[in-house]
Amino acid sequence: MTVPGLLIVISGPSGTGKGTICKSLFQRRPDIFFSISATTRPPRAGEIEGVNYYFKDKKSFEEMLDRNEFLEWAMVYDNYYGTPKTPVIEAMASGKDVVLEIDVQGALKVREKAPEGIYLFVVPPSLRQLRARIERRGTDSMEVINKRMGKALVELANLYAYNYVIVNDIVEEAVDRVESILKAEKCTVQRYRFVVDGEPDEPLVVPK
Ligand code: 5GP
Repeated sequence: MTVPGLLIVISGPSGTGKGTICKSLFQRRPDIFFSISATTRPPRAGEIEGVNYYFKDKKSFEEMLDRNEFLEWAMVYDNYYGTPKTPVIEAMASGKDVVLEIDVQGALKVREKAPEGIYLFVVPPSLRQLRARIERRGTDSMEVINKRMGKALVELANLYAYNYVIVNDIVEEAVDRVESILKAEKCTVQRYRFVVDGEPDEPLVVPK
């Protein structure tokens, strides 16, 4: 019997570096399945179709919505973003841990369907550093930067809907903490069954 993988949801205000954390986590743990979202946002320089996102026009995205193909979806900065359902379900069923890097609205929707998931919230060390990071990225106009800062404050108010907070001060240390959380979550008693009538040499606990 295959033990289902963990569902790990990572959110945090735009510019907190959650993408960088995910990239580094992927290098350390290539066995994890990182869900690739669909979006109507145009690709940024260097972004690759099927790697960063599945880039869709509005019509194709809405067709996917009609076909109920998303685990969750949200409108973020006037663009649609959604998590395709089938790849996530298949990866988990095959025993892989799955990471969704999605915004707070999406995470709250997933939480309703999968309360047993692990919900991580990445925060910047300070608001000043958050603004500096968004500005450094150099991809957004002042209007968009201000919008992102406004949304960051609203998102931060949802911190307590999550299980863990990761302050992204030093990326590699933040990833260390994420890895430790995943290791600990594999050991929670809820994931195991006590074998009361096994043979003396058999394991006392087995994954559920
Ligand atoms: P960006 O345009 O900077 O790549 O992403 C903008 C925001 O959309 C980020 O907070 C990111 O986590 C979120 N996002 C990316 N994919 C999804 C998704 O599939 N669903 C939801 N709800 N949010 C997403």
